[in-house]
Amino acid sequence: MRKLYQNRMERTKDINPRFLADAMLGSLARWLRLLGCDTALAPSEASDLELVRWARSEDRVILTRDTELARRRGVRVIHIESMDLSEQLRQVVAQFEIKPERIGTRCLACNQLLEPLTREEARGRVPPYVWETHERFRHCPGCGRVYWAGTHWNRMRVRLVAMLGPEWDASPKV
Ligand SMILES: [Zn+2]
Repeated sequence: MRKLYQNRMERTKDINPRFLADAMLGSLARWLRLLGCDTALAPSEASDLELVRWARSEDRVILTRDTELARRRGVRVIHIESMDLSEQLRQVVAQFEIKPERIGTRCLACNQLLEPLTREEARGRVPPYVWETHERFRHCPGCGRVYWAGTHWNRMRVRLVAMLGPEWDASPKV
């Protein structure tokens, strides 16, 4: 039985890991979403027990700065040691061998997978200048935000390369 459980965990790691970040790790959660990782963010009022139940029911790995929560058994927990965002992101990327393939596929605000939006559908939902100068758009079916590879994206890309290295100089999948 134990063996089966371990195998299942290994497989979860090999495919796309799903995370549940505690409320202290909001920035890390947004950056993991940017990389395309399914990352739920716990509200600050959630108890440790609620986090554990949530992680178990959705097969998520808890990311926490709380050493007590990190010692919990029966759920997969990663203790995020650093206060520094770059180091936090490097820790998770290294530990789960996250690759740049899925950059820009997820909503930064609510974690949903983005869906393509035709140029015509994007008209009126983005500033006119953006509509004139971009061909490709995506939107979030959850919160309605529209995404495009504009100047904001380029700033994030520069930061991503600074934090994770040159192989992360990737275009978003929009
Ligand atoms: Zn959204």
